[in-house]
Amino acid sequence: MEEKIGVFICTGYGIGEAIDIEALSKVATEEYSVPYCRTVRSCEKSDLNIIVEDIEKEELSKVLIAGISPRRYEEDVFPGDVIVEKLGLREHVVWSQPPNEEDTQMLAEDYIRMYLTKLQKFEPPEPFQPEETLNKSILVVGGGVTGLTAALEAAKTGYDVRLIDKSEKLGGWLSKQYRSIPSKPPFRDLEDNGIDALIKEVDEHPLIKVYRSAAAARIEGAPGLFDVSLKSTKNGKTEGEPLDTFRVGSIIQATGWKPKEPRENLSYGKIPDVIRNIELEEMVKENGKIVRPSDGKEVKSIAFIQCGGSIDKKHHSYCSSICCLNALKQAMYLREQDDNAKAYIFYEFIRTPGFYEDFYRKAQEEPGIFFTKGEITGVKNENGGKLLVSALNTMPGDNIEVEVDLVVLAAGMIPNSADGEAIRALEDAKITAEKGETDVQRDAAKEKIAKLEEHEGTEILNLGYRQGPDLPTLEYGFPDSHFICFPYESRRTGIYPAGSVRQPMDSLSSKEDAAGAALKAIQCVEMTDRGEAVHPRAGDKSYPDFFMQRCTQCKRCTEECPFGVLNEDEKGTPLLSATRCRRCGVCMGACPERIVSFKDFSVNMIASMIKAVNVPDEFEEKPRILALLCENDAFPALDLAGQHGLQYSPFVRVIPVRCLGSVNSIWISEAISTGFDGIILIGCKYGDDYQCHFCKGSELAFARGDNIREKLEQMQMENQRVELHELQISDYERIPEIFNSFAEMIEEIGMNPFKGM
Ligand code: SF4
Ligand code: SF4
Repeated sequence: MEEKIGVFICTGYGIGEAIDIEALSKVATEEYSVPYCRTVRSCEKSDLNIIVEDIEKEELSKVLIAGISPRRYEEDVFPGDVIVEKLGLREHVVWSQPPNEEDTQMLAEDYIRMYLTKLQKFEPPEPFQPEETLNKSILVVGGGVTGLTAALEAAKTGYDVRLIDKSEKLGGWLSKQYRSIPSKPPFRDLEDNGIDALIKEVDEHPLIKVYRSAAAARIEGAPGLFDVSLKSTKNGKTEGEPLDTFRVGSIIQATGWKPKEPRENLSYGKIPDVIRNIELEEMVKENGKIVRPSDGKEVKSIAFIQCGGSIDKKHHSYCSSICCLNALKQAMYLREQDDNAKAYIFYEFIRTPGFYEDFYRKAQEEPGIFFTKGEITGVKNENGGKLLVSALNTMPGDNIEVEVDLVVLAAGMIPNSADGEAIRALEDAKITAEKGETDVQRDAAKEKIAKLEEHEGTEILNLGYRQGPDLPTLEYGFPDSHFICFPYESRRTGIYPAGSVRQPMDSLSSKEDAAGAALKAIQCVEMTDRGEAVHPRAGDKSYPDFFMQRCTQCKRCTEECPFGVLNEDEKGTPLLSATRCRRCGVCMGACPERIVSFKDFSVNMIASMIKAVNVPDEFEEKPRILALLCENDAFPALDLAGQHGLQYSPFVRVIPVRCLGSVNSIWISEAISTGFDGIILIGCKYGDDYQCHFCKGSELAFARGDNIREKLEQMQMENQRVELHELQISDYERIPEIFNSFAEMIEEIGMNPFKGM
């Protein structure tokens, strides 16, 4: 279609009364020679039909609607091949500025210039379609309750599934449980764990292929194109040929959890009758009764110590969610075994969320179960018989001692995820094993390698990614994701952690989590097949294009991409796996050569928008401030500020960006050389509790901000001319304060000395 631009200026919502519409139209028709420009009385609902009719009648290929905010359109009624850009004159000009003022008019006219420039530079994105057919089957790693449920849910929806488990026996921890906590009303009675039926259903499902005693030796590729090679875990080694190789479209990591070692002063490992809750469970499952490990005598009393001894918060600082329920359950085992037996449950908090409170009530009604809040100071076995448990600050305020036959410690859950520390230790040990100076050093390193390779969490997925072989994890080893908005996601597109590897949870929640992850995995293969991005720019068909002839192999893009999208060839040239890409633009922000661009978002496009602003000369005393706002939180916050009628400096010109991480420093220099007096960048919160939709984008922008300020100093300019802020959508009231105080500061320090040069 030949390019023909049309502009529709909405006069409703008070816009026509606050702005000189004729002058605004002239910017489009005279400055930009737009062939078609008209006014409409509203740009919502049925009035959109007028625009659609005109688009068809006038054969427009690109359209600018200047009216309500782009976020206020309830439906997209425009023909698919027409590019429609929306400018929020209402929220960003009329509702935030006094009507009929010169500065208000200048703001509106600048926005028309900026958005027409954007339209001119805009090219329609073409969905990524590789030559190879994209695969839609799903790999599930882990055959516990989460993995089995995820496999079954995906297969029931008609998708081929491969499930691998490192053990010969499926079922994970649930298969080791004698009974399960109640999952249905009245939430008082213990239940069969149900795992055998689940395993049978998976084994018999025609769309599921199960590999027992198998692990991922290597996973190469990207969503729709993951090439998996399996190794046997028998004897803990891979021997010879891979067990199998196949391709899948997406992956669910359901590798579960492992128990944390208890706190040292609880004598675990020193006194045989001090055991962990998992060992009690296995004992009852195997023998049908509870006995003392030291002498095989039947147990008449147990002290359950919750939180693995929670005096030391650093030992295990988060709640594992199931230990309290397990203690209640195991106390009931004891009471079933002997109705004279006594269970003492020492706790800091008893946590039984939701309907599990009814299960707690049942345990409270049991005459032989005693609950005591207190801090355990030690467990002794002085005469080889009974154990003496001492507790401080118990609920009545006393320090007490209790004599019991057995002590059971609540071992916290830690995720079976890749352990970054172990991976690094393994790499170091391999180097020492090869290059160590002495035989003793080399032998010690070999021993260490053998131990580390047995470590369950050392390497799980074995991804062929430049940024590492497994999902990036957070402080406690749980996979990193945007836990507020996108809890199922990881920082590797198409790979979805589920169950207790994602966060501590019981088997019922694990099943729900598994169903959610199966849906995410299906969504991924379907959207990838259509050439669309998955979250958070779901449906986006653009992807980054690298003009490699000018690449200097600086590796910034490969290192800074938050999602590990880019591998490198042997020279360090980035290799794009487009279906891994989340379209955040962080690589575009990182590239010093400015050779990364999207068809609908590029360095050149934003630079041109900046240059399109009419900057008054220094004598007019009308400064110009550029504000680059993250479109996920900061830009919507600007909308809210407008909706609430909050007024702010008319000197600010706002451009939304995909992520603050996509801001390329050249835009700052362009703004300064265009005559802007200052630049504000607003992105999402970063740090451990980040809210950046692209995880690392905001953090990177703040790090780059320091370099930008340094550059300003080198140019003999005040470094305050660039300011960065973190803002979440609910902080919209801060927008006027940020803009106004920045404008005041610019007034104090004076205009950009390069203005007009
Ligand atoms: S930085 Fe963002 S846009 Fe660039 S390759 Fe990575 S995910 Fe894609
Ligand atoms: S940041 Fe730019 S120049 Fe550097 S490796 Fe990536 S594409 Fe090449």
